[in-house]
Amino acid sequence: MLKRENIVVCILLMVACLWIIFAIILLEAKVLNLKDRFRDEYGLMEDIRYFPVARSTDESTPYVYYENSWGDARTYGGERKHEGIDIMAGENVPGKYPVVSMTDGVVENIGWLELGGYRVGIRSKNGGYFYYAHLNSYADGISEGKKVKAGQMIGYMGNSGYGPEGTTGMFAVHLHIGMYIREKDGSEKSINPFPYLNQINKKTIKYKY
Ligand SMILES: [Zn+2]
Repeated sequence: MLKRENIVVCILLMVACLWIIFAIILLEAKVLNLKDRFRDEYGLMEDIRYFPVARSTDESTPYVYYENSWGDARTYGGERKHEGIDIMAGENVPGKYPVVSMTDGVVENIGWLELGGYRVGIRSKNGGYFYYAHLNSYADGISEGKKVKAGQMIGYMGNSGYGPEGTTGMFAVHLHIGMYIREKDGSEKSINPFPYLNQINKKTIKYKY
């Protein structure tokens, strides 16, 4: 009798264990699904090689920081959504931090925009449009139609924009990075650069500054 009872207890324990394992697997699957897992729907990760702000060779220089503000409400120039990520300067000094191209590509646009200030727009091989805004100045040789290499400096971070050409100081020094893909109907659709930046924020170019 005793032996048989032991067998029953053993079986019950095994069943309980299996249930617990099953529950853990289910829970884990749920947790993984809830997290924003990185999906590169448009194949842009193939093009992206560097984080867009160079690090200083002097390690004591404060670097940059960013958070996910894509889609946040913005009011300057009418109610709209934030179509990018703001990479904030560790030190609020215009013209200090070198901005580099994240990809190989072609300069499609350069010049002043009321919202973006001095901006450069670069088209990458797989069709992504990378928009670098609020620059303080452009690097030599950056002009419309020019080819650029990933990691090549395109200008310095600044605080230009929100007014007529030359307006500066309306906000803290930062790089606004926007990423767009072209839809089949020819329109440009903003995608969130945040997960892409997270993938490459260790891949930085070093400059002396
Ligand atoms: Zn912005």
